[in-house]
Amino acid sequence: MKFVDEFRDPELIKKTAEEIKSLVGDDHYRIMEVCGGHTHAIYRFGLEQLLPEGIELIHGPGCPVCILPMDRVDEGLAIAAAPEGDVILTVYGDMMRVPGYEGSPLEMKAKGLDIRMVYSPLDALKIAQSNLNKSVVFFAIGFETTAPATALTVMKAKEMGVENFSVFVNHVTVIPPMRAVLDDPEMAIDGFVGPGHVATVIGAGGYEEIARDYKKPVIVSGFEPLDILQSLLLLIKQLKAGEARVENQYERVVPWEANPVAEKVLSTVFELRKEFEWRGLGSIAASAVRLTEEYSDFDAEVKYADLLERHRIEREERFSEGAACQSRKRHDDAPCGQVLKGLMKPHQCALFGKECTPERPVGALMVSSEGSCAAYFNYAKRS
Ligand code: SF4
Repeated sequence: MKFVDEFRDPELIKKTAEEIKSLVGDDHYRIMEVCGGHTHAIYRFGLEQLLPEGIELIHGPGCPVCILPMDRVDEGLAIAAAPEGDVILTVYGDMMRVPGYEGSPLEMKAKGLDIRMVYSPLDALKIAQSNLNKSVVFFAIGFETTAPATALTVMKAKEMGVENFSVFVNHVTVIPPMRAVLDDPEMAIDGFVGPGHVATVIGAGGYEEIARDYKKPVIVSGFEPLDILQSLLLLIKQLKAGEARVENQYERVVPWEANPVAEKVLSTVFELRKEFEWRGLGSIAASAVRLTEEYSDFDAEVKYADLLERHRIEREERFSEGAACQSRKRHDDAPCGQVLKGLMKPHQCALFGKECTPERPVGALMVSSEGSCAAYFNYAKRS
């Protein structure tokens, strides 16, 4: 099959769902779809209703906006509010409404900060080139899928000597959080529907360490309804047979090997951070990148190190009492982490659809179209 329509064929979808049902029988499997794109597709196409009760889908930490700690949003906004008043902060569209403790980029833009939405880091670089009296910062976010574009832009900025451009890097990597999920005894995952987009960079083979080290199958999957059902069928077949391999259902797009060009660019510009904080999962070793020494002139965390340090100290003072403390507690108490870990379904959150809606999100899972709370709100049964 080659065309999208074929992957939405109702008869094939029904047939595959029935095959899954008869194979599952009375067994119970906890399967994590890591990528928010899969979560979105599952609810958009109503796939959960076609699956037997024995398949429990756990929505994983594969939405980069959702796992970004609120402190990082605040830090990006602190840079935008630099006292010199010369910063233009550029962000992807799905970052605009992501709440930090002190507001979202959209709210801060309404308060007068120069925050602009861009479609790519190259757009941010162009803004820097046409605003030489300003400091243009790109708020970089995403998994291996978007990191190469950031890396190439930084290389280009260096090559062209664009000194007023820098990047606030929040790029993360997919394997460490999968390991963190499997290391958590509360999670008890039987297998993964693996992110297809990330695999275009790391290759389907990039997930082999999960199958090898944890004896859990991973099926790299496409995003159409039949892709996801075929992937679940392949997973159940492996689980029934007691196997744990990586299979590539998304062969029409994803190669087995990593993309050598992307890997080279990534390793030239980025190095692993020792630790990075993930919303809901805590600190995970070697799970994110930063710019290497060679590119540190373009690192907003280096350029604004003093400002960020002052911001962190003032933040702790501000949040130690009063309304700011209450506001932070309200966000910290929200069970987004429980939902991110699959320990709670979105509609089981007391704030879901009441205090927390896509228009007025409390947590990032309600903001991004890939967030599980937004997917539930838009498409799923809410009871
Ligand atoms: S409904 Fe809102 S507060 Fe509740 S888990 Fe989802 S994003 Fe977090």
